[in-house]
Amino acid sequence: MSECIFCGIVSGSVPATMVRRDDDVVAFRDTNPQAPAHILVVPSEHVVSAAELTPAHDRVWARMLHVAQAIAEDENLDGEGYRLVVNVGPRGGQTVDHLHIHLLGGRQMTWPPG
Ligand code: AMP
Repeated sequence: MSECIFCGIVSGSVPATMVRRDDDVVAFRDTNPQAPAHILVVPSEHVVSAAELTPAHDRVWARMLHVAQAIAEDENLDGEGYRLVVNVGPRGGQTVDHLHIHLLGGRQMTWPPG
């Protein structure tokens, strides 16, 4: 069975442009950016998707949001605004089965997303 690509980034076996990391959360730049700033925030623990979250994940989920907020400040996105996206499952457009928040900024976002 092949290793989850984001678990590989967490463990260091897959290279990534790291933005932040602590014991619970890792953030790195998306290799196919959809905005001038496009960063993925993932839990170190393998969680397949937001659909798999349980109350036991409340702390790490809150941590992911706080890390995204801190990165937005670091990248000077907080003044003009930015977008946080979580794709869930095939119809949600999720292509990597390891929970992640997309942080997108640096351009005007449109609605609805595709
Ligand atoms: P999603 O479609 O919501 O599952 O998002 C997965 C994201 O992961 C996409 O935006 C991909 O460009 C990105 N991605 C896939 N592999 C890597 C990688 N090795 N390093 C950084 N980003 C990646």
